[in-house]
Amino acid sequence: MHIKFHKIRESVINTGIDMLNSQLVVGTWGNISARVPDEDCIAITPSGVDYNNIIPEDIIIMDMDGNIIDGDKKPSIEYNLHLAIYKARADVNAIVHTHSTYCTAMAIARKSIPGAAEDLVQIVGGDVKVSEYVLPGTKELGEAAVKALEGRNACILANHGCLAASRNLKETLKTALIVEKSAKATIYAQMMGGVVELSQDDIDFMRDFYLNKYGQR
Ligand code: 13P
Ligand code: ZN
Repeated sequence: MHIKFHKIRESVINTGIDMLNSQLVVGTWGNISARVPDEDCIAITPSGVDYNNIIPEDIIIMDMDGNIIDGDKKPSIEYNLHLAIYKARADVNAIVHTHSTYCTAMAIARKSIPGAAEDLVQIVGGDVKVSEYVLPGTKELGEAAVKALEGRNACILANHGCLAASRNLKETLKTALIVEKSAKATIYAQMMGGVVELSQDDIDFMRDFYLNKYGQR
């Protein structure tokens, strides 16, 4: 195992444990990846391994063509999905894919999450769109996700789950959590008569606030 990949492997493993503990996934479904800093490759979770049992050498280091550089395990079946997003989006350095409950509800109903809650529009950049339906583990799923992600940091994969893609692992996991919370809130709001969407001007204002002013700097 190459020592230079150790830090990124540990970060991916810890994100997986946090994702599991946050109940965004059940069992071994979902997957996580991150760009390796200063290298043209990514670190991605192995296919079908319990998040609590993944050890550093289980994390696969892969180049942008899908060739394995380091690691013995089989990579996530969704490695083409992850690679397609990194190729299309220079702003994305980490991807978290979950099968969380409320996002799955939106996914099977094929309903987008409207841009209506402050935290959602700040971190995602607007509403969360549903991709075209494509079988899991295919190259075509990558194309469908890139389309649904346009101008956003998350999308719903039709009949599948949630996809968050952002600047780093911490922010990307947070995005997946906010999307899940917003999916839940949307379903509750629908029971009370519907959702009042924010105007594009207000969404733009809040997005700019999040990117340039929010928090400690
Ligand atoms: P992997 O365990 O191969 O990552 O597959 C899980 C999944 O979510 C497929 O979409
Ligand atoms: Zn999946």
